[in-house]
Amino acid sequence: MSYKNFPMVSRVIFGRGSFNQLDEIIAPKRRGREAPFIYYVDDVFKGNHWLTSRISLSYKDKIIYIPTKEEPKTEQIDQLVEDLILEFSERPSAIIGIGGGIVLDIAKAVSLMLTSEGEAKDYQGWDLVKNPAIYHIGIPTISGTGAEVSRTTILTGPERKLGINSDYTPFDQVILDPELTKDVPKDQWFYTGMDCFVHCIESLNGTFLNAFSKSYGEKAFDICKEVFLGNDLSEKESQDKLMMASWHGGMSIAYSQVGVAHAMSYGLGYLLGVKHGIGNCIVFDHLEEFYPEGVKLFKEMKTKHNIILPTGVCSNLEDDELDIMINVALSLEPLWENALGKKWKAIITPDKLKALYQKM
Ligand code: NAD
Ligand code: ZN
Repeated sequence: MSYKNFPMVSRVIFGRGSFNQLDEIIAPKRRGREAPFIYYVDDVFKGNHWLTSRISLSYKDKIIYIPTKEEPKTEQIDQLVEDLILEFSERPSAIIGIGGGIVLDIAKAVSLMLTSEGEAKDYQGWDLVKNPAIYHIGIPTISGTGAEVSRTTILTGPERKLGINSDYTPFDQVILDPELTKDVPKDQWFYTGMDCFVHCIESLNGTFLNAFSKSYGEKAFDICKEVFLGNDLSEKESQDKLMMASWHGGMSIAYSQVGVAHAMSYGLGYLLGVKHGIGNCIVFDHLEEFYPEGVKLFKEMKTKHNIILPTGVCSNLEDDELDIMINVALSLEPLWENALGKKWKAIITPDKLKALYQKM
């Protein structure tokens, strides 16, 4: 038996207002006047001086706003890398991602591809990256995905939706400032927060579970219940706690795996462009059979926060479209093996998945 030897985020700072320490953290990383700090910032913050005025630009440093209607694509990463190569004579001193899971994943992927030859699609998979990335910092502005701790960056390529999983993917530095999440809209808060809840359920009920994943998963699970079902937290406490839940949920799956909801949600994302958080919610709502206790709690949370999920998402799909989703979902074998054990193929057939998708 050989155990996985995981890299982790090297440094992390947590606290309200810790974003103000960004300058002092990165100053020593500057390699020269021609090697800029590149800030990828969620475009929801465009014109939001409360945040952007606290980023101080020197020499050739640059803020690049990232639209978040769609999840990241491999060609988008290639384009961003090329833009930097053409504009600057030297490689950046640091890449800083400020935003949700989309922006964090873009920052990770660009920092990797700046030091690797070829295209981003060539590195979708496990441990294909051979060179260390450019120094990269992650600063989440919404809580739940765990992208701030994970060793992957999820990309949609020409052939598949699959992460660049590597030892060089995790951030060198993370800044966890819960204050940055204060303006997240309610629905989005729920969808992204539920990503964390689903990470816990899938990890804790999976066959890959071990003491390491369990300790993180249980902690995140308890915090999610407190945040989404409790009545005692102030808004600030709730923001602080959800940020910690996201971190712990991410740590839990780092050493185990996700499960049925993520496998099926990837199918929805690939074919229909349904985003990760809401896609997980749409799927998870129909998974009583696999996660009875988790789905019951999820439905309570949904009711408590008056969340109405889209319905009929798959009702007008042709058979060949359903087949595409089913194939994407089934290709994620480790997720099924975690969820249902080595003999998962006896339980999950294409017909079974079709019947489930048709309920959504
Ligand atoms: P997101 O990045 O899709 O952002 C959702 C919305 O919230 C966007 O409209 C964004 O502008 C907005 N937003 C973000 N911060 C805000 C703030 N402070 N105030 C107001 N609006 C704000 O959301 P997400 O759910 O965090 O990320 C989903 C992405 O993360 C997907 O691309 C998914 O594939 C990826 N993901 C990655 C990992 C990983 O380990 N790398 C894990 C899970 C999900
Ligand atoms: Zn997820």
